[in-house]
Amino acid sequence: MLSAIRKEGRNGMLLYICPLCGHVFVNSKKYSKHLMKSHLRNFSMNKRKLKKLSKRLILIKVKEENGIPLDNFEKYLNLKAKLNSK
Ligand SMILES: [Zn+2]
Repeated sequence: MLSAIRKEGRNGMLLYICPLCGHVFVNSKKYSKHLMKSHLRNFSMNKRKLKKLSKRLILIKVKEENGIPLDNFEKYLNLKAKLNSK
């Protein structure tokens, strides 16, 4: 799962920030709900998009195999690609 950016708020409360759209949430449950609803559901890749992303996905695979950490966008792509292939 793509993890939120955690940040301490003004009153010491932990905030969760969506790395994809910058939305702020007060708890991780709300964040994961948002992630599923706004970013992962209804995902479809057409051929043109897939072609554009395939190079990036290959790079992600290579990174994963070599234990190189992915950045947030790559994690996102990877997650989407996995959901799409099911
Ligand atoms: Zn978001």
